[in-house]
Amino acid sequence: MRILFIEDNLRLATLVRKGMETEGFTVDAFGTMADAEVAIDTTNYDAVILDLGLPDGDGLDFIKYMRDNKKTSPVLILTARDGIEDRVKGLNSGADDYLLKPFAMEELTARVRALLRRPDGGITVKLTSGNISFDTTSREVMIDGEVIKISPREMSVLEQLMRRAGRVVAKDTIESKLYGFGDEVSINSVEANISRLRKRLVQSNASVSIHTLRGIGYLLSEQE
Ligand code: CA
Repeated sequence: MRILFIEDNLRLATLVRKGMETEGFTVDAFGTMADAEVAIDTTNYDAVILDLGLPDGDGLDFIKYMRDNKKTSPVLILTARDGIEDRVKGLNSGADDYLLKPFAMEELTARVRALLRRPDGGITVKLTSGNISFDTTSREVMIDGEVIKISPREMSVLEQLMRRAGRVVAKDTIESKLYGFGDEVSINSVEANISRLRKRLVQSNASVSIHTLRGIGYLLSEQE
């Protein structure tokens, strides 16, 4: 996976590049928008990590440059600006995620991996978590290479959890997708679908399981 990293703080740029390279990423780091524009014109990047305060411009303009030039790589904004306004502006301008400085290296690599899993990141339509893989085009779920049969509703729940693996998915979010199936709410209840899905995952020896965060939502993560 090749990552474009735009950051004018040389010390931070070096740390992140080394940290990500030990995680198996290839990182091209540049300190100015001008250099980054040349890089993205000539190379296909799987994701872009972008600082906003750059010596020759605002990082948000780089996103505009990318979109104007039909570059669809997902973008993660990395910045010390913590105002809600900046966050909204960043996401409105077409960034896919947002991470505040200071940050932990693990958090950054986890967020980049999450971006790469997103089908709209243009990389793949196959989601994977542990030994589960989910082909979002053929709607096929496999555990350890074996296809498992689950209902479309359970599939919808699983897809949402896998798209945000390791992060919490609010119960309301899951519920709003289930309403689309048009049945009685009682049949569609999130709890019932989670419970059936959880059983199927256990029966099929999945290496990940669904955790309940009472009153908040659900999270898919590796079993302890
Ligand atoms: Ca900066």
